[in-house]
Amino acid sequence: MIKITNIISGTLKTNCYLVYDDITLDAIVIDPGEDGYKVINIIDKNMFKVIMLINTHSHLDHSQSNNILRKQFNIPLAIHKYEVDFLCSNLKPEILLYDQQIMNLSNNSFMIMHTPGHTKGSICLLFEKFLFTGDTLFAGTIGRTDLPTGNANDMLGSLAKIKRLKQSLIIYPGHGRSTMLQYEILHNPYLIDN
Ligand SMILES: [Zn+2]
Ligand SMILES: [Zn+2]
Repeated sequence: MIKITNIISGTLKTNCYLVYDDITLDAIVIDPGEDGYKVINIIDKNMFKVIMLINTHSHLDHSQSNNILRKQFNIPLAIHKYEVDFLCSNLKPEILLYDQQIMNLSNNSFMIMHTPGHTKGSICLLFEKFLFTGDTLFAGTIGRTDLPTGNANDMLGSLAKIKRLKQSLIIYPGHGRSTMLQYEILHNPYLIDN
């Protein structure tokens, strides 16, 4: 079964998620944030076998400790192809993600959704029961679209795409608490109006 450990990493309280299979302990790291050593400690304590690092987008509050984790565990970094040029790191990602790409974690698969708006190459990660939304969708609100490569129109399209997903999905955003898609569709002003 797929399970999730949440670590709040860094000054902007970015959510780092360790998504793991509870039998094999294979794990992926989503957005290590600024505090890579805290993330490494929790991985070691749980004896997770980290297989990959994925960034929802290139912003530093999500990606700053990429290199610390890559060196520690010798794992590939995956990010959407449109974000590569904005990564503040001299190490290049090994895996360039694209929309609807299917990825594996032990015997489970998940899908990459390209959701531009906060940045041009922002992604969400769709699992059977969960959706990791980075800075695209938060509980009660959405991510900014006024930063470089942000686009309010693209954001509308991305939110419409999210609205069409299974309503029972649990949303794990890049900042703040988790929520349910069904609740957001009823109460989040950006989803109601869209
Ligand atoms: Zn961001
Ligand atoms: Zn952020």
